[in-house]
Amino acid sequence: MTDDALTPDQIQQIRNRVAELMPQVRADLEELVRIPSVSASSFDQSQVARSAEAVAELLRREGLDVEIVVEGGRPAVIGHLDGPEGAPTVTLYAHHDVQPPGDDADWDTPPFEPTERDGRLYGRGAADDKAGVMAHVAALRAHAGSLPVGVTVFVEGEEEYGSASLPTILEKHGHRLAADAIVIADSGNWAIGEPALTTTLRGGVRCVVRVETLDHSVHSGMFGGAAPDAVTALIRLLASLHDEEGNVAVQGLDEGTAAELDYDEARFREESGLLDGVGLIGSGSILTRLWNKPSITTIGMDVTSVDKASNTLAARAAAKVSMRLAPTQEPQAAFELLRAHLLDHAPWGAKVTVDLEEHGSGFAADADGPVYDEARASFADAWGTEPVDMGVGGSIPFISDFVARFPEASIIVTGVEDPDTRAHGANESLHLGEFEKVCVAEAVFLARLGALPRA
Ligand SMILES: [Zn+2]
Repeated sequence: MTDDALTPDQIQQIRNRVAELMPQVRADLEELVRIPSVSASSFDQSQVARSAEAVAELLRREGLDVEIVVEGGRPAVIGHLDGPEGAPTVTLYAHHDVQPPGDDADWDTPPFEPTERDGRLYGRGAADDKAGVMAHVAALRAHAGSLPVGVTVFVEGEEEYGSASLPTILEKHGHRLAADAIVIADSGNWAIGEPALTTTLRGGVRCVVRVETLDHSVHSGMFGGAAPDAVTALIRLLASLHDEEGNVAVQGLDEGTAAELDYDEARFREESGLLDGVGLIGSGSILTRLWNKPSITTIGMDVTSVDKASNTLAARAAAKVSMRLAPTQEPQAAFELLRAHLLDHAPWGAKVTVDLEEHGSGFAADADGPVYDEARASFADAWGTEPVDMGVGGSIPFISDFVARFPEASIIVTGVEDPDTRAHGANESLHLGEFEKVCVAEAVFLARLGALPRA
């Protein structure tokens, strides 16, 4: 730890400065939330353009050289401001688009009218990820006139819609995003008052499994008992994907172990809504199961519905299978293992085909070295307690694009969310007290990097 990079006085000055800035940061956040920048194509895309322009204007006001780039998708904003000669450079990522609001009736207050209740700011994007955008702006403001490092801000416009044009943006504009450290503010903290760095994310594979047993459907009275139906065959096949304990039974997949964090079964039951009497599946600590081991879920099936059922042996049936992967797992290899398992376990010689629909890499940070040391120290300065390393069971697929494009950079995944944020859901909200700490941590981090001895 380079505890001496900044003096306690310097850190206190940054805390004070951020505290003074928060009312305006909050007001600017509310303006962003009022723009319904839903990137999904069935929504008005002029709003996404508006939010890109609003973000660009916030960055211009901080003196950044700003460009809005469109590479076949939604508008992204890239802004840059040089630091002192020879200082490290940092790229700050967030996204300005949001998820659809869903049914307005599920919201206690209108999704695009930011509203404070009990220390939280409610609204679509109030956390994910317009607060991420504003954390970057707050850090820049805290250092206005004397930025300690070179900063590039990259605010994407289609993260919630699959980041389809991100590879092209990185190809065409990536040279402007290269940096010693890349801060991706799109995750969250472990709990209120407990900061975290997100050091692992799971990858994923989605595929469709089709089973055929008959040339055509036939009468179950005349042929049942000797001819297998496709639905039963499919169900047996899907059942083979887990062992008795509920662990994934596909052989050869990567597995890891989560950090020892306080997370018990009662909390998991509460958060997941598991019914009384229903047991957990899998083995290992709960967090290991959620963050570091593979999981398999059947997410859809094409079978005759109950309403339309007749006494027939179905000739064919299909299921969509979603597999989450350990952070280190290569997705294409995982798909091949899954496909081999399914073909090997075809019951009664049923014809099985497996088609890959989508795959994405996980992320396992190289969470050591001077940049990570300064990041951890910055979080400790902001919260008064050391950050934990946390995993996320889901994916942020674009992070692997950054890892591939910038192999030399330290990639730090942070964010404004907490366990009650409900990102993507109704009544999404931001904890305002935690948000200030996020802003302090980022401002201190820039100062700490700027104070590192130069090579
Ligand atoms: Zn997000």
